[in-house]
Amino acid sequence: MSNTLDLVKLTVADAAKMLDSKQISATELTQESLRCIKAREPEINAFISVTEEIALTRSKHVDADRATGKALSALAGIPYSLKDVYNVVGTKTTAGSKILESYTSVYDATVERKLQEAQGVLIGKTNCDSFGFGSTGEHSAFGPTKNPINTTLVPGGSSSGSGAAVAYGGGLYSIGEDTGGSIRCPAAFCNIVGLKPTYGRVSRYGAIAYASSYDSIGPMTKSVQDAAIVLQHIAGKDPYDATTGESAVPEYTAYLENSLHGKKIGLPKEYFVDGLDPLVRQKIMQAVEVYTSLGAEIIEISLPNTEHAIAAYYIVGISEASSNLGRMDGIRFGTEVEGKNWSEKIKNARGIGFNDEAKRRIMVGTYALSAGYADQFYKKAQQVRKLLKKEFLSAFSLVDIILTPTMPVLPPKIGEDVNDPLKLWLMDAFTVSVNPVGVPALSVPVDKNDVSAPVGMQLIAPHFKEEVLFNFGHLYEKEVYAS
Ligand code: GLN
Repeated sequence: MSNTLDLVKLTVADAAKMLDSKQISATELTQESLRCIKAREPEINAFISVTEEIALTRSKHVDADRATGKALSALAGIPYSLKDVYNVVGTKTTAGSKILESYTSVYDATVERKLQEAQGVLIGKTNCDSFGFGSTGEHSAFGPTKNPINTTLVPGGSSSGSGAAVAYGGGLYSIGEDTGGSIRCPAAFCNIVGLKPTYGRVSRYGAIAYASSYDSIGPMTKSVQDAAIVLQHIAGKDPYDATTGESAVPEYTAYLENSLHGKKIGLPKEYFVDGLDPLVRQKIMQAVEVYTSLGAEIIEISLPNTEHAIAAYYIVGISEASSNLGRMDGIRFGTEVEGKNWSEKIKNARGIGFNDEAKRRIMVGTYALSAGYADQFYKKAQQVRKLLKKEFLSAFSLVDIILTPTMPVLPPKIGEDVNDPLKLWLMDAFTVSVNPVGVPALSVPVDKNDVSAPVGMQLIAPHFKEEVLFNFGHLYEKEVYAS
């Protein structure tokens, strides 16, 4: 085995080559990743459970299969983690919550089944803000996750453990979940790549729902190429999820090197406003210059309803969440708690099992849906959603791609904003409009080697055009990191 294995830098593409050429075995790579997790976990807390036994069994099978000379997938033998919202038979699936603390899955999510078919090696399930509610990784029942590139900072959320694990080398990629930025935000704060695919590109079957009309499942990786490789394996129609799209899954890596000459990039003026951190602005403008040097044309565009996006996103999102969480009653799902009668049992189970953030959202969401208020809040928010969709579609008649900062700020310090829910909701300003519209978006680090100020740029493409994101993201990386 190579003694120069650097798990912080090792990509899926490079590991696949090493496995193929037998420079390393799947078992060795897995053991190395488990060692890394053991070393970093006491400080970072990226994992809720480490599936060591599953990982070692699977990697052994991959090695045995490879020894027979049979052709294996690009993900065979590669250790990965799943955000702890995905069901995997026999594993704990908590969604970062107390109410599901003792829940063990009885079936596999489609995303997990597909990765198993590709002979991936599940190494663990990652920490997250409870039920995906949060942007900092501080709202988990299993304690906060720290940012491995600077442990005084939050790693972003809600897929906080996935971002941190990939950034420190605990598995080569992770599958996150994004309802309003939960893949892109930790990707930006941890200096890694995160893709929120088009709604319906990846099956949601077996994922614990936050907001069913927004939820998107996607890869968190160290390179754009890796994100393309992983998406290739998890995308596609699924009979178990009626919202998955029929369209064929393209060969994503075939698009990585397409020339950007004459391609048009739109910068929405509403995303470059006063609240934007000056350093974030400066770094994003540097990235824009890289694209100019690659031959792309920069055009200012307008998405006028951006200012209403947060309100519309949260009203619809938490309305759906309040309904989805109805099943967590300590009877159908969730830890059973004593009570004199049914209603007291349910009240106690939910009172103990949900954190303040979940309770806040259930209450506001239920209110927004209630008779007499639904027209004023829920219906209005859906109308804004329609307008957002319309303006994104008309922007895409002018440009190939939209470029924005992923987050308007640098990662806050752990504990700094935890008691200011409004400030935390506002942090999502640039990611949340994407989900109501359903388009795909990719967060790419502007400079992954700058650990003092992690900034992600967000690339947004039309529905089912992930290959355009990979093309733009990959050529940026090539230009900036080629030595
Ligand atoms: N931070 C956003 C929220 O709390 C996004 C969460 C997510 O994408 N799961 O709603």
